[in-house]
Order: sequence, then C-alpha cells, then structure tokens
Amino acid sequence: MALSRLRITTRARSEMIEITSLVREAVQQSGAREGLCCLFVPHTTAGITINENADPNVARDLLAQWEKIAPTDGNYLHQEGNAPAHVKASLVGSSEVLLVERGDLVLGTWQGIFLCEFDGPRQRTVMVKTVSG
Ligand code: ZN
Repeated sequence: MALSRLRITTRARSEMIEITSLVREAVQQSGAREGLCCLFVPHTTAGITINENADPNVARDLLAQWEKIAPTDGNYLHQEGNAPAHVKASLVGSSEVLLVERGDLVLGTWQGIFLCEFDGPRQRTVMVKTVSG
C-alpha cells in the first residue's frame, strides 16, 4: 500500500490547519476500499488531532487552553526557545488511526483532521499510510 507525504506550509507560531480533504485524497488515491488510514507527524513541535471543523472558534478555544497549560512565557529547562511547543505537541500526539469504508474515511459529521502547529511558521509533513483489510 502506498505511503503519501502531505507537505503543509504553516503560517503562524500556533495554529490548527484542517487537512481532511488532503487525507481523503490520499486515501482515495491508495485504492483501498476497506481498511485503516494511519497518519503520522514526524515532528516534535507539531501534532495531529481530530475535532470539530464546523465552528472555527473550537480550534481557537483549543489553542487558547493549550497555551494555558504550556504558556509561551513559562519557565522551562529546554533552552531552544520552543519548550512550550514540545509540551503541546505531546498533549496532542503525533498520530491518528482512522477507519476506511467504501473507499473513504469514516468521520463523524462535525469531525475534521487537523495538523497542529506549535512552533511555526514552517514546512511540515504528514505521512499517510492506507492499509486494506
Ligand atoms: Zn526544542
């Protein structure tokens, strides 16, 4: 089964970028009818999550709450200047597994897949592996 790499250019220090349609395309191009779609973000200061894509305020609220957990001006041992981004990336996680049915992703009505940038702007990669079965 094919492995796709989505290249995403982020434009802010912290943001959530919806990538549902790109993942959907990769699944359709794989030709898999039934199976699993594995998503992996090979970064330590970005992550991936599934949440509501109808109201953009949900993403804003998530970013605001993560900022409270790991504030930009907090005290950290990691001296690279991006310690809060590492914390947020671990909160969100670096992978998701979705079901594939009838050649398409299975998602709830309000669900979207988001790349979560915490140390942008940068070029990011999302790996997509679709497995039939
Ligand atoms: Zn770092």
